[in-house]
Amino acid sequence: MKIEALPVQPIPEADAPTRALAKARARAFGQFVGQIPFAAALLDRDLTLVACSREWARQGIAPGLTLGGDAGAGGLVAFEDVGSLLICAEAGIAFSRYLPTVDAEGVQHVWRTEFSACRDGPPGSEETYAVMITARDVTGYADSVLRAERDKQRLTMALELDDLLVREYDLRTKEVYFSGHAPELQKYCTFKDDPLEIVDPEDRQRCADLVATRKIGEARVFEFKLHRDDGVETWVRSVGKVFVGADGKPEKLVNLFKDITDRRRQTEAIETLAFKDPLTGLPNRALFQHRFQEAVTASETLGEMFGLIMIDVDHFKDINDTLGHDAGDALLKRLAGMLQHAFRAGDTVARLGGDEFAVILRGLHGEADMLPPIAKLQDLLRRPIEHAGRSFTASASIGAALHGDPDADPSHMIKNADIALYRAKETGRNRSIVFEPSMRSEVEQRIELLRDVRAALTENEFTLYYQPVVDIRENKVAGFEALMRWIHPEQGVLTPARFMPAFEDQDLSLKLGDVAFEAALKQMRQWLDDGVEFGRVAVNISSAQFRSGRLAEEIQERLARWNVPCDRLTIEVTENVYMGWGSDLVSSTVRQLHDAGVMIALDDFGTGYASLANLRQFPIDRLKIDKSFVQNVEDEAIVKAVITLGTSMGMKVVAEGVEDAAQLKALEHYGCDQVQGYHFGRPMPAGEVAGFLTGFGVNP
Ligand code: C2E
Ligand code: CA
Ligand code: CA
Repeated sequence: MKIEALPVQPIPEADAPTRALAKARARAFGQFVGQIPFAAALLDRDLTLVACSREWARQGIAPGLTLGGDAGAGGLVAFEDVGSLLICAEAGIAFSRYLPTVDAEGVQHVWRTEFSACRDGPPGSEETYAVMITARDVTGYADSVLRAERDKQRLTMALELDDLLVREYDLRTKEVYFSGHAPELQKYCTFKDDPLEIVDPEDRQRCADLVATRKIGEARVFEFKLHRDDGVETWVRSVGKVFVGADGKPEKLVNLFKDITDRRRQTEAIETLAFKDPLTGLPNRALFQHRFQEAVTASETLGEMFGLIMIDVDHFKDINDTLGHDAGDALLKRLAGMLQHAFRAGDTVARLGGDEFAVILRGLHGEADMLPPIAKLQDLLRRPIEHAGRSFTASASIGAALHGDPDADPSHMIKNADIALYRAKETGRNRSIVFEPSMRSEVEQRIELLRDVRAALTENEFTLYYQPVVDIRENKVAGFEALMRWIHPEQGVLTPARFMPAFEDQDLSLKLGDVAFEAALKQMRQWLDDGVEFGRVAVNISSAQFRSGRLAEEIQERLARWNVPCDRLTIEVTENVYMGWGSDLVSSTVRQLHDAGVMIALDDFGTGYASLANLRQFPIDRLKIDKSFVQNVEDEAIVKAVITLGTSMGMKVVAEGVEDAAQLKALEHYGCDQVQGYHFGRPMPAGEVAGFLTGFGVNP
């Protein structure tokens, strides 16, 4: 403000009596001012302090003004306000200002001082004779005003720095106001009728659900994709709150928007690293566990029913080993696609590792809800997979469990689904089984057994017994079949019937196979050294032993190591091994051994689905008719046919389970070459073999 420019009027001269009267009046008024119970002061026309209240003096509001002095209004008004004070004195225009002071204790105060003109002269005359000042301590109030000012500044700053956009929607007038500093965002946060118009159609239902459950006055956070015509992906976070008017009815909706596209991309990238399986892009085990926990919580708090499905590719290792890892990867990716196709978009399909997948199905009504997607998956699995110009098929075993019983512990779900999966694998794979409580104990027993077998292996509790195979034409012992026995420290000699699951377990069957071969070869070496004429020893091979693809080499290496001729060994392979997966591998292994002089026997013939025509491609030297046929009189015709057919194909036929002379006689009659059974001898420890041979008249 320019002081020079103000029109300062000369003070008109008055006559002496008038002045005296005015002075007297002023004194009287001054006395009155002195009595005022708050800070007040009276200034002369020439701005000299005429009087002040005790409070004014005590507070030292304007120390520059001294009674009767001529310091003018100095200290009371800021330099730029002098003009205003003069105008007040001259023209009677009141004004006010804030005045900071420091009291005797050094405490800061803020005063609001109001300047108003006091008039002299007859009523109606405009003449001023003095200025009345009143002051109020507004320290606290000023603070809050200042704070509000600062808060507002801060808020603006925050909106600006954080690129926040505030949208106020008047629910009554339908008017929309924006503030904040995200002009780009503002364009897409504008709507015509419904605030949800700004949400991408994909996210709209989800947001609508959230809005529906929002209480008035409650702040809700939404994250959604903006609906943009140009297709640019923009994610926003919105905090929305409905305010009510004085009548208690919703008045306005206030939203705070922030563009979180970058942050979302970053977290997505991080999540991809931490929670996605890189090969298939599916959630990994960590994310699966998180989602599983969510399902458990939902079932506990809302009583929601959910299902868990475990999927395991059958013979995945073989596919990897024989077709290569690329084919294995292609299969896993294809399976991931099939799973996503078979299950609902909201189901969590995860890869837990290797060839293990899992699906969490939320919000089920019963077991029946799980079956259609499983059937769909199995259907998809039947289609061949093309890879690198080759086509192959794969199957999967599926175990499912449902959490429906509110009293059951949902954390057992994973174990239950695993048990069902185990069951599916055990009962022949390529099938799905839904968990039932009765399965648990069986599986637990089995797990316990496998653990015991593992321990027994390290304790060398497994050994071989030998059962004679007799050539009935020449009436001599052609050889022995080596049969596994578990010399249990408490239970005595156990036959394989007691530990059959161990032969079906990939890892254990390999270990048992190892033990059998080492023991058999060591024994043969011993007999050879001792001059025991044992003929041939037949060793049983389980399908897992073919898996490595090196079985032929391994056997030949062992024979060489123990210096046992190849023609002393027979291997027994069941028809299921020939017909099962990887028959190419079995075929080449068997051929290699056959060519080296190892005899190949087809074990348990008749129990599986193989026909002799199917088996023509394999170099089979010997056919073993299963004991169930030999012992059943009604199956005589079958036995007869098999012997005729086998013989015509150039195979020797061995009948198993011959227990009495009548059976022997019939077999002789049909032209059977060799027999094996209790009639001639039970499986016996190696130490009894020499004695048996002597008794049979072979070894004199
Ligand atoms: P398998 O290969 O068919 O062996 C013949 C089974 O018939 C043996 O049972 C034998 O003791 C039994 N047996 C022989 N003669 C008679 C008879 O006259 N009457 C009756 N009722 N049974 C007779 P075991 O020793 O209990 O072996 C059972 C199965 O365990 C074997 O059947 C074979 O599949 C498997 N196994 C045994 N040792 C081994 C092994 O070292 N490796 C593999 N992979 N499997 C083995
Ligand atoms: Ca056998
Ligand atoms: Ca057999």
